[in-house]
Amino acid sequence: MSTRADWSGLFAHRAGLRGGEELAAILAGVPDGVLPLTGGFPNASTFATDVLGDIAARVLRDEPGLALQYTPVEGIASVREYLSERQEALQGVRPEALMVTSGGMECLALVCSALLDPGDAIAVEGPTYLGALMAFRGAEADVHEIPMDEDGLIVDAFAEQLEGGLRPKLLYVIPEYQNPTGRTLPLERREALVELCRRHGVLILEDVAYRELAWGAEPLPTLWSLAPDAVVQAGTFSKIFFPGVRLGWAAGPAEVVEQLAAAKANTDQCASALGQRMVEEYGRGGHFESQLPRACELYGSHWRALDGALRASMPDGVSWTQPTGGFLTWVELPAGLDAMELREAAVEAGVAFVPGAPFYASDSGASTLRLSFSALGEADLAEAGRRLGSVIADSL
Ligand code: PMP
Repeated sequence: MSTRADWSGLFAHRAGLRGGEELAAILAGVPDGVLPLTGGFPNASTFATDVLGDIAARVLRDEPGLALQYTPVEGIASVREYLSERQEALQGVRPEALMVTSGGMECLALVCSALLDPGDAIAVEGPTYLGALMAFRGAEADVHEIPMDEDGLIVDAFAEQLEGGLRPKLLYVIPEYQNPTGRTLPLERREALVELCRRHGVLILEDVAYRELAWGAEPLPTLWSLAPDAVVQAGTFSKIFFPGVRLGWAAGPAEVVEQLAAAKANTDQCASALGQRMVEEYGRGGHFESQLPRACELYGSHWRALDGALRASMPDGVSWTQPTGGFLTWVELPAGLDAMELREAAVEAGVAFVPGAPFYASDSGASTLRLSFSALGEADLAEAGRRLGSVIADSL
């Protein structure tokens, strides 16, 4: 009998650079009885299945030659027109260029492919979205971390780094309800950031994944709307429609979007035609306007349930962010406590969280952790918060 072939010597150098294996294991699932505050998945009750069923049936019946076919690389023309109109209605500016992507994550991958050479410096928030960090590392970028405070990225700290000689090609930033912290960048910082990046010739890559999930104040102007010629916006329908559709958009300067489309011709060549037409029909039918407020209300009441439990049971010295939208809050433990080490005790006590360290480009964040309140119902969130509070109290 021949031995099984071994391919482990075959992988590219960059395959070993992405990291995230540890986190993938943590997110893979939790034992029965453990309440997960882990994955940032939308709540399945927000999927408008009846409406989606009707739209899918209609599109399949009336236009199989379009909805089941390949599409132009940058998306179906009517869908791009709809997305441009939507962008103008929600953000006040009509895009110079917009293309459809296969989710928000693909937009980040296209940026890596089109813009980044190995060794290129880029800047990110510290902490930031792990998927982005893995993509940038996989592109062999030299990732620089900009510190945050409770109002998000500290623009003055970035200015200092730029004045000190940092020359990043781009800055990746998530201005609303950031993953992983839930923080939102105030208007004055947005204006200052745009001005700073313009002055230093830094392209901004703005990720608006959670922007439309506001239950608090009205959303602020996007960075892209403040500087459409200096910002590429990565958007996604994963959180406001459903992630299985794998659809997003890239809006920005024409010469950049053109290069992203050229990169897409080298990957999946086009996003799902069926998904594109479903988003367009759903949107033109007014369903975002009818469904989104309900989703925001749901996430808002989830947040209040978790926040209430944390207030009741967290020991002194523990703090957490106060999001006004999205799925996430970020907990800071007293210095000396290691969230990675607490994980096991938490799972034993019946609650799971994501340790914060992997969200940093640097070695920081040992005493931080991320909680997601999107999936569990209010009673479970209250119980999960109580369990977490007592695990942390016991470890002090
Ligand atoms: N950006 C952020 C900040 C996210 O949290 C996510 C999903 N967790 C994405 C982008 C990617 O979303 P998708 O590829 O599903 O559109």
